[in-house]
Amino acid sequence: MEKPLKYLLEEHKLTLKKAFGQNFLTDENLLAEIVEKAGVTENDAVLEIGCGAGALTRELAKKAKKVIGYEIDKRLAPVLKETVGEFGNVEMIFKDVMQESLTDLEKSLGGEYKIVANLPYYITTPIVMRFLENAANLTSMSVMVQEEVADRFSALPATSDYGAITVAINLRGAARTVLKVPREKFTPAPNVDSAVVRIDIEKGKFAGADLKAVRDIVRAGFSSRRKMLVNNLINGLRLTREQAERALTEAGIPLTARGETLSAENYVRLTERVKQVKNG
Ligand code: SAM
Repeated sequence: MEKPLKYLLEEHKLTLKKAFGQNFLTDENLLAEIVEKAGVTENDAVLEIGCGAGALTRELAKKAKKVIGYEIDKRLAPVLKETVGEFGNVEMIFKDVMQESLTDLEKSLGGEYKIVANLPYYITTPIVMRFLENAANLTSMSVMVQEEVADRFSALPATSDYGAITVAINLRGAARTVLKVPREKFTPAPNVDSAVVRIDIEKGKFAGADLKAVRDIVRAGFSSRRKMLVNNLINGLRLTREQAERALTEAGIPLTARGETLSAENYVRLTERVKQVKNG
């Protein structure tokens, strides 16, 4: 940023809001590294969620063809005008990204796009889930999240970090941590360290699978982590014990398995079998 954040905020008489997850980045080398790890090129349209004072937006604007940035806090409008106003390829929208229609949003991005964001921590999972489940033209998502959340995103089955969100990611692609970022890099510094996770969407992964039905089964599978999957299927999907056991056996999954031991592939296979046993 041209002007240090401190002066920028003073000049605009702004104090940062904890409720909006306003922990800002200022280190230009770090910001450039995030853009580099996200693989942004001059052909890319980028969606940034939570532009703050525009530090990441500037780095994105230097590399991308087009940047659409969402910011919930309208107080930041004059700051962003000062920091990113000079870039003709940036469009700022002052709105809660969760309230925006995804169809409209994707229309304005005009085709394939990447998400690059230092996400507000209070709403990380809902944002990531919404785009994973509903975005049609998203090719990758590189997001700064709390380190423990990053561990969950790329966890292996049967580990304590593995959860419904890991499966949701693996149904669309795969996640890896590309950068670790210590808490001191933020203003103000949060209580935990962070990491940038890159989720690459694999086009056509599980093509033909009814992902909505798979997600219902994943939800049931993780509803009571301590219970065996067979019981979660009976309770969550209103299957009889006989139906649940048959579906598991036909999918090649042990009757004693817990939901947290199943891969995304296992969940897709199980869903097909559940559909079949339900239909008699
Ligand atoms: N990108 C900036 C940076 O890296 O310095 C700011 C990142 S800060 C962690 C998150 C930003 O998201 C804040 O500016 C906050 O106001 C904004 N924000 C919070 N909730 C939002 C929402 N629902 N929609 C859009 N922006 C949101």
